[in-house]
Amino acid sequence: MSKYFDEQKWSEAIQHNDWYLRLSDDYKRLMKQAEENNKEISGKIKEEIYQFFENHLEKGDIVLGKKGPNWDKERKPIDTIIIHHTKNPPGITWQRLNAMQLIRLYAIYYASPYYEEEKHIKGQAIFSSHFRNSHQIFYAYHWLVRMDGATEKLLDDNQIGWQAGNWEVNCRSVAICLDNDFENSSPSDLVISSIAKLIKEKYPQVKLENIVGHREVNPKTTCPGNEFLTDWKLKLINILK
Ligand SMILES: [Zn+2]
Repeated sequence: MSKYFDEQKWSEAIQHNDWYLRLSDDYKRLMKQAEENNKEISGKIKEEIYQFFENHLEKGDIVLGKKGPNWDKERKPIDTIIIHHTKNPPGITWQRLNAMQLIRLYAIYYASPYYEEEKHIKGQAIFSSHFRNSHQIFYAYHWLVRMDGATEKLLDDNQIGWQAGNWEVNCRSVAICLDNDFENSSPSDLVISSIAKLIKEKYPQVKLENIVGHREVNPKTTCPGNEFLTDWKLKLINILK
């Protein structure tokens, strides 16, 4: 049973189209609580929230949209690569990433749509227009790079990832995410060469100056970590030169 929220209330709420509005106050309270506590408690709070959604996405008993905006209609030719890190311990599953980004990206946007022509989606069931084996998915990255250098495809390149915190950039970029927390460290040479190889093979058209960290397009985040700009971005670019 959940220690930090009323699981029964949440289980009832997710049976409604607007579950993200019904749970919004609880979610804000929990995030505040996480912020005010130490890393251990904060981790436990987030773990409970994400596990709850991961379980229910798996069970299929959370209401999601059957139709909605075709978010990918604005997809542009890819001219930019955005580098991220998960800021989590290595070994994240796509299911966990899916639950996290449903909550942190889609639920937040549906609760408060930014563009005038999208205001009407508030309260509607969340729809991503992205599917994996006929299940709707919400992760926002195109690639996940593991710490042994292995690369995993998440979104297709013709799908827009809600990842950069900037819609215009999202429309013309792909997101490569490293499966680790690099807030205060750098990836190994193996991982850096794996990113370089991926870019060389799949996105040779992208200019070197358009290979950027998440933090370079969105100043609100430090992703992909504090050493990106001072250390490993240069290593990556040098391999690609
Ligand atoms: Zn990021």
